[in-house]
Amino acid sequence: MCFIAKKRINSQMQLSFEPLLLELKHPFRLATGMRTHTNDMLVRISLNGLTGYGESAMPPYYGETHQSAAAFFELAARQLQSYHQPLSATTIATIMQEIDGLAPGNNAAKAAVDIALHDLWGKMQGRPVWSLLNVAPENMPPSSFTLGMDTPEVLRQKLPESDGFQILKIKLGSDDDRAIIRTIREVSDKPIYADANQGWTDREAALDLTYWLQEQGVLLIEQPFHKNDLESSAWLTGRSPLPVIADESFQRLSDLHRVAACFHGVNIKLMKCTGLAEAVRAIRAARHNNLKVMIGCMTETSCGISAAAQIAPLCDFVDLDGCWLIRNNPFGMPDIGDGRIRLNAQPGLGLHVKTS
Ligand code: MG
Repeated sequence: MCFIAKKRINSQMQLSFEPLLLELKHPFRLATGMRTHTNDMLVRISLNGLTGYGESAMPPYYGETHQSAAAFFELAARQLQSYHQPLSATTIATIMQEIDGLAPGNNAAKAAVDIALHDLWGKMQGRPVWSLLNVAPENMPPSSFTLGMDTPEVLRQKLPESDGFQILKIKLGSDDDRAIIRTIREVSDKPIYADANQGWTDREAALDLTYWLQEQGVLLIEQPFHKNDLESSAWLTGRSPLPVIADESFQRLSDLHRVAACFHGVNIKLMKCTGLAEAVRAIRAARHNNLKVMIGCMTETSCGISAAAQIAPLCDFVDLDGCWLIRNNPFGMPDIGDGRIRLNAQPGLGLHVKTS
């Protein structure tokens, strides 16, 4: 394994990072384009012989790169030198506040630091992160499995990959939305989460489609309109028979006041909101605003997915399939049963690092 930088922190703690290029099993087609890889960074924060793992998954539309993340980790490593207290939820929140202030943006890079700190905290305590955060694993909702936009023939070929999951997530937002759903319905009667990925533009057509989608067994609609077109989202939310969930319109906790009245719920992703510390606060704030909560992901390794899974039992909808969509996961796959990720009792995030 090749480390491109190492920083000594205090006498013992060190942060290291390693660029990864996640290979997607299938080209990922969205309303906004197509890609075959996702840039990713693996982060390690070590102290007293224990190592916490973190990850930055950086899809191109958020603008983070290997270079920007590496520059941010250099800053973060220096900042971490000033912390001497044992890790706890409070100290991690304090640390992440400081890390957040180092530079604007860099949300996925910040998430990697947060995730690694949580994994390290759990390992120091000998307890899983979900236990430290008072999460009940038996409340885990089923996760959806995403099928990207594709021809009916390819969609048919991909469907068996979703066999372990109870819910399909289907990317819509093209002129063929009804055809895509009809194709899925030819081969599967599983419930569907529909994600328009900002692809709809006409309100009335969107409303008609929403009613039709409900008849087809769709359970929710994610991000129907452009992220800044909150008026259209609010219009649809006021009329839709299905929950309308903000994804691209909701990045961080600070966005909540802007979108709360325009959607039925928000999709929280660690890579958008800088990690678990802010995600837990965002879930609380969303509940306070009577919003539904979805927890989602990018194409990620088991590191990011397992981190999000630690708090998924606090959410209504779970879309944590990223590590099932890539070929080169450096960690063992999460356990899944009955369509649900099974949180294990191992310390930290419960990751199994593959030896190469
Ligand atoms: Mg989405």
